[in-house]
Amino acid sequence: MNTIAIDGPAGAGKSTIAKLVAEKLNFIYVDTGAMYRAMALYFIRQGIAGDDEEGVSAACKDIAVSLEYENGQQQVLLNGENVNGLIRTEQVSMMTSDTSKYVAVRAKLLDLQRNLAKTKDVIMDGRDIGTCVLPDADLKIYLTASASERARRRYLEQKERGVECDIARIEQDIIARDEQDMNREISPLRQAEDAVYLDSSDMSIEEVAAEIVRLFEQR
Ligand code: C5P
Repeated sequence: MNTIAIDGPAGAGKSTIAKLVAEKLNFIYVDTGAMYRAMALYFIRQGIAGDDEEGVSAACKDIAVSLEYENGQQQVLLNGENVNGLIRTEQVSMMTSDTSKYVAVRAKLLDLQRNLAKTKDVIMDGRDIGTCVLPDADLKIYLTASASERARRRYLEQKERGVECDIARIEQDIIARDEQDMNREISPLRQAEDAVYLDSSDMSIEEVAAEIVRLFEQR
Protein backbone atom coordinates (compact mmCIF):
# COMPACT_ATOMS: atom_id res chain seq x y z
CA MET A 1 0.00 0.00 0.00
CA ASN A 2 1.11 3.57 -0.66
CA THR A 3 1.09 6.10 2.14
CA ILE A 4 1.58 9.86 2.31
CA ALA A 5 1.82 11.61 5.69
CA ILE A 6 1.10 15.34 6.06
CA ASP A 7 1.75 17.05 9.37
CA GLY A 8 1.78 20.69 10.34
CA PRO A 9 0.22 23.37 12.53
CA ALA A 10 -3.43 24.44 12.57
CA GLY A 11 -4.76 26.10 9.45
CA ALA A 12 -1.78 25.32 7.21
CA GLY A 13 -4.17 23.99 4.56
CA LYS A 14 -3.41 20.32 5.22
CA SER A 15 -6.93 19.01 4.74
CA THR A 16 -7.76 21.04 1.61
CA ILE A 17 -4.49 20.02 0.01
CA ALA A 18 -4.63 16.40 1.14
CA LYS A 19 -8.13 16.07 -0.35
CA LEU A 20 -6.90 17.41 -3.66
CA VAL A 21 -3.86 15.11 -3.72
CA ALA A 22 -6.10 12.16 -2.82
CA GLU A 23 -8.28 12.91 -5.84
CA LYS A 24 -5.30 13.26 -8.17
CA LEU A 25 -3.64 10.03 -7.02
CA ASN A 26 -6.85 8.12 -6.31
CA PHE A 27 -5.96 7.67 -2.65
CA ILE A 28 -8.26 7.73 0.38
CA TYR A 29 -7.94 10.91 2.44
CA VAL A 30 -7.85 10.32 6.20
CA ASP A 31 -8.35 13.37 8.42
CA THR A 32 -7.09 12.25 11.83
CA GLY A 33 -7.91 15.61 13.44
CA ALA A 34 -11.60 14.83 12.90
CA MET A 35 -11.23 11.71 15.04
CA TYR A 36 -9.69 13.68 17.93
CA ARG A 37 -12.41 16.30 17.44
CA ALA A 38 -15.17 13.67 17.71
CA MET A 39 -13.71 12.50 21.03
CA ALA A 40 -13.50 16.10 22.27
CA LEU A 41 -17.16 16.62 21.37
CA TYR A 42 -18.03 13.65 23.55
CA PHE A 43 -16.11 15.11 26.52
CA ILE A 44 -17.85 18.49 26.06
CA ARG A 45 -21.26 16.82 25.94
CA GLN A 46 -20.46 14.89 29.10
CA GLY A 47 -19.37 18.08 30.87
CA ILE A 48 -15.86 16.74 31.44
CA ALA A 49 -13.23 19.48 31.79
CA GLY A 50 -10.26 19.46 29.41
CA ASP A 51 -7.79 19.50 32.30
CA ASP A 52 -9.44 16.51 34.03
CA GLU A 53 -7.16 13.76 32.72
CA GLU A 54 -8.74 11.13 34.95
CA GLY A 55 -12.26 11.96 33.80
CA VAL A 56 -11.23 12.11 30.15
CA SER A 57 -9.33 8.82 30.38
CA ALA A 58 -12.21 7.03 32.12
CA ALA A 59 -14.66 8.25 29.47
CA CYS A 60 -12.56 6.83 26.62
CA LYS A 61 -13.96 3.34 27.14
CA ASP A 62 -17.46 4.66 26.33
CA ILE A 63 -16.41 6.11 22.99
CA ALA A 64 -16.32 4.44 19.60
CA VAL A 65 -14.99 6.49 16.71
CA SER A 66 -15.30 5.21 13.15
CA LEU A 67 -15.07 6.60 9.64
CA GLU A 68 -17.33 6.29 6.63
CA TYR A 69 -17.01 7.73 3.16
CA GLU A 70 -19.96 9.44 1.44
CA ASN A 71 -19.26 10.45 -2.17
CA GLY A 72 -15.58 10.26 -1.32
CA GLN A 73 -15.97 12.62 1.68
CA GLN A 74 -14.85 11.38 5.09
CA GLN A 75 -17.61 11.26 7.69
CA VAL A 76 -16.69 10.73 11.32
CA LEU A 77 -19.04 8.76 13.52
CA LEU A 78 -19.15 9.12 17.30
CA ASN A 79 -20.89 6.08 18.78
CA GLY A 80 -22.66 5.64 15.46
CA GLU A 81 -23.77 9.31 15.13
CA ASN A 82 -22.43 11.32 12.19
CA VAL A 83 -20.87 14.36 13.93
CA ASN A 84 -19.13 15.88 10.90
CA GLY A 85 -21.17 19.08 11.11
CA LEU A 86 -20.50 19.60 14.83
CA ILE A 87 -16.75 19.38 15.23
CA ARG A 88 -15.38 22.51 13.51
CA THR A 89 -16.19 25.14 16.15
CA GLU A 90 -13.44 27.00 18.02
CA GLN A 91 -14.72 25.48 21.28
CA VAL A 92 -14.23 21.96 19.90
CA SER A 93 -10.83 22.94 18.44
CA MET A 94 -9.48 24.04 21.83
CA MET A 95 -11.01 21.08 23.67
CA THR A 96 -9.41 18.77 21.09
CA SER A 97 -5.98 20.25 21.69
CA ASP A 98 -6.54 20.08 25.48
CA THR A 99 -7.47 16.38 25.42
CA SER A 100 -5.38 14.98 22.55
CA LYS A 101 -2.32 15.22 24.80
CA TYR A 102 -3.55 12.39 27.03
CA VAL A 103 -2.22 8.88 26.48
CA ALA A 104 -5.67 7.26 26.78
CA VAL A 105 -7.07 9.46 24.00
CA ARG A 106 -4.11 8.86 21.66
CA ALA A 107 -4.03 5.11 22.32
CA LYS A 108 -7.69 4.90 21.37
CA LEU A 109 -7.08 6.22 17.85
CA LEU A 110 -3.61 4.94 16.96
CA ASP A 111 -4.55 1.41 15.86
CA LEU A 112 -7.58 2.64 13.98
CA GLN A 113 -5.37 5.03 12.00
CA ARG A 114 -2.68 2.43 11.34
CA ASN A 115 -5.22 -0.16 10.25
CA LEU A 116 -6.73 2.23 7.70
CA ALA A 117 -3.34 2.51 6.03
CA LYS A 118 -2.90 -1.28 5.84
CA THR A 119 -5.70 -1.93 3.40
CA LYS A 120 -5.83 1.20 1.24
CA ASP A 121 -3.59 3.79 -0.36
CA VAL A 122 -3.95 6.71 2.02
CA ILE A 123 -2.94 10.30 2.42
CA MET A 124 -3.30 10.99 6.12
CA ASP A 125 -3.02 14.36 7.81
CA GLY A 126 -2.52 15.33 11.44
CA ARG A 127 0.25 16.22 13.86
CA ASP A 128 2.12 12.94 14.42
CA ILE A 129 1.53 10.97 11.22
CA GLY A 130 5.13 11.02 9.94
CA THR A 131 6.68 10.74 13.40
CA CYS A 132 4.42 8.17 15.04
CA VAL A 133 1.41 6.79 13.14
CA LEU A 134 3.11 5.97 9.81
CA PRO A 135 6.87 6.20 10.41
CA ASP A 136 7.47 4.26 7.17
CA ALA A 137 5.26 6.45 4.97
CA ASP A 138 6.41 6.64 1.32
CA LEU A 139 6.34 10.43 1.46
CA LYS A 140 6.23 12.77 4.45
CA ILE A 141 5.35 16.43 4.20
CA TYR A 142 5.60 19.07 6.92
CA LEU A 143 3.22 21.77 5.72
CA THR A 144 3.21 25.17 7.32
CA ALA A 145 2.45 28.86 6.67
CA SER A 146 2.79 32.06 8.68
CA ALA A 147 0.41 32.43 11.64
CA SER A 148 -1.29 35.47 10.09
CA GLU A 149 -1.87 33.66 6.80
CA ARG A 150 -3.21 30.60 8.62
CA ALA A 151 -5.57 32.80 10.65
CA ARG A 152 -6.75 34.54 7.48
CA ARG A 153 -7.54 31.20 5.84
CA ARG A 154 -9.38 29.87 8.90
CA TYR A 155 -11.35 33.12 9.07
CA LEU A 156 -12.45 32.85 5.44
CA GLU A 157 -13.36 29.19 5.94
CA GLN A 158 -15.54 30.00 8.97
CA LYS A 159 -17.15 32.93 7.19
CA GLU A 160 -18.02 30.67 4.29
CA ARG A 161 -19.73 28.34 6.75
CA GLY A 162 -21.74 31.33 7.97
CA VAL A 163 -19.97 31.48 11.34
CA GLU A 164 -19.40 34.95 12.82
CA CYS A 165 -15.79 35.28 13.94
CA ASP A 166 -12.99 37.63 14.76
CA ILE A 167 -9.68 37.21 12.91
CA ALA A 168 -7.50 38.41 15.81
CA ARG A 169 -9.18 35.91 18.11
CA ILE A 170 -8.66 33.10 15.56
CA GLU A 171 -4.96 33.96 15.31
CA GLN A 172 -4.64 33.87 19.13
CA ASP A 173 -6.43 30.51 19.25
CA ILE A 174 -4.29 28.86 16.59
CA ILE A 175 -1.09 30.12 18.21
CA ALA A 176 -2.26 28.75 21.59
CA ARG A 177 -3.22 25.43 20.01
CA ASP A 178 0.12 25.06 18.15
CA GLU A 179 2.01 25.89 21.32
CA GLN A 180 0.15 23.15 23.17
CA ASP A 181 0.41 20.62 20.31
CA MET A 182 4.16 21.24 19.89
CA ASN A 183 5.03 21.07 23.56
CA ARG A 184 3.08 18.09 24.80
CA GLU A 185 4.90 15.00 26.04
CA ILE A 186 3.30 12.35 23.82
CA SER A 187 3.47 12.66 20.04
CA PRO A 188 4.14 16.40 19.88
CA LEU A 189 3.83 18.15 16.53
CA ARG A 190 7.25 18.22 14.94
CA GLN A 191 8.77 17.71 11.54
CA ALA A 192 9.95 14.13 10.96
CA GLU A 193 13.64 13.97 10.02
CA ASP A 194 12.79 12.60 6.59
CA ALA A 195 9.86 14.96 5.92
CA VAL A 196 9.88 17.58 3.16
CA TYR A 197 9.25 21.07 4.57
CA LEU A 198 6.75 23.12 2.56
CA ASP A 199 5.82 26.69 3.47
CA SER A 200 2.54 27.45 1.71
CA SER A 201 2.30 31.15 2.71
CA ASP A 202 2.93 32.31 -0.84
CA MET A 203 1.73 29.26 -2.74
CA SER A 204 -1.74 28.50 -4.04
CA ILE A 205 -3.55 25.32 -3.03
CA GLU A 206 -3.08 23.96 -6.56
CA GLU A 207 0.66 24.67 -6.48
CA VAL A 208 1.15 22.87 -3.17
CA ALA A 209 -0.93 19.88 -4.30
CA ALA A 210 1.00 19.65 -7.58
CA GLU A 211 4.31 19.77 -5.68
CA ILE A 212 3.23 16.92 -3.40
CA VAL A 213 2.14 14.79 -6.37
CA ARG A 214 5.49 15.53 -8.03
CA LEU A 215 7.41 14.55 -4.89
CA PHE A 216 5.40 11.34 -4.61
CA GLU A 217 5.97 10.37 -8.23
CA GLN A 218 9.70 11.05 -8.22
CA ARG A 219 10.45 9.44 -4.83
O1 C5P B 1 -6.11 19.07 12.24
P1 C5P B 1 -7.13 19.63 13.20
O2 C5P B 1 -7.05 21.12 13.37
O3 C5P B 1 -8.53 19.16 12.92
O4 C5P B 1 -6.73 18.98 14.61
C1 C5P B 1 -7.38 19.36 15.80
C2 C5P B 1 -6.49 19.02 16.98
O5 C5P B 1 -6.39 17.60 17.09
C3 C5P B 1 -5.05 19.51 16.93
O6 C5P B 1 -4.92 20.83 17.42
C4 C5P B 1 -4.33 18.49 17.81
O7 C5P B 1 -4.41 18.84 19.17
C5 C5P B 1 -5.13 17.22 17.60
N1 C5P B 1 -4.51 16.27 16.69
C6 C5P B 1 -3.50 15.47 17.17
N2 C5P B 1 -2.92 14.52 16.37
C7 C5P B 1 -3.34 14.36 15.11
C8 C5P B 1 -4.35 15.19 14.57
C9 C5P B 1 -4.91 16.15 15.38
O8 C5P B 1 -3.10 15.60 18.33
N3 C5P B 1 -2.77 13.40 14.36
